[in-house]
Amino acid sequence: MKRTIEIAENAGACYGVERALRLTREAKGDVRPVHTLGPLIHNPRVVAELEGDGVSVANSLDEAQTGTLILRSHGTAPQIIAEAKERGFNVVDATCPYVSKVQQHAKELADAGYAVVIIGEPKHAEVEGIRAWGGKAVVAVADEPSKLPETLPAKVGVVIQTTQSEKRVNAVLSCVRELADEVLVKETVCNATQVRQRAAAELASRVDAMVVIGGHNSGNTHRLYEVCKPLCPATYHIESTDELDPVAFKAVEHVGITAGASTPASQIEEVKRYLENL
Ligand code: SF4
Repeated sequence: MKRTIEIAENAGACYGVERALRLTREAKGDVRPVHTLGPLIHNPRVVAELEGDGVSVANSLDEAQTGTLILRSHGTAPQIIAEAKERGFNVVDATCPYVSKVQQHAKELADAGYAVVIIGEPKHAEVEGIRAWGGKAVVAVADEPSKLPETLPAKVGVVIQTTQSEKRVNAVLSCVRELADEVLVKETVCNATQVRQRAAAELASRVDAMVVIGGHNSGNTHRLYEVCKPLCPATYHIESTDELDPVAFKAVEHVGITAGASTPASQIEEVKRYLENL
């Protein structure tokens, strides 16, 4: 049986992740040892490959001690960057430029006297970084209206986590507008997530089975799975081909593939080849 395998448009690594991987590869020749501050991306296979190439994960400056320190695409608090430089680390900033923009907006709004509201997931690393850039001016972090405080200062500046959906942003924003007199919104959403979801949904609606590739710890990969599953019940979230059951694909004629924003093209190709040779 001839099996058709189709890859969704925009599947896989986004601009910020590609850039972080490139900067890390380039940094391998820098001052040794080379560390990333926290896992570089939410893709355990890539993190393990980097480890094999001599780029280890340090969860704090104390753990890294010396050498080159790569700051991941989600961004880092300014205090940690300053301390790393002070301690003599060779700092490579792989913060995604879209995330840097949110951080700068948070700082500028704070400097201009605005109380800052961050629309985003409170415990997400990117949001924790933005919060640190906004400092004491940050009065709320919310990804739904119920997480906002009952009152807000009169003058509020809003920044948005890059991966928030339009629906969530609008819901929180309309509440902020009711609570504050003056609201200045900085549009900081990156469309990488929406673009992937839209293309994955389109493909999932017309294939017999769908494979979603990405770390089990990757939030945006989970969301891709959630988008595809109702449209194509035979949807599988995998990190590698070991998790695919060949029997389940024997009679499948048309397979769709998509992948999260932290999945490199090589992992997509590997799955495609595997399915072709079944
Ligand atoms: S999803 Fe967007 S903001 Fe986040 S790393 Fe990728 S390109 Fe940057």
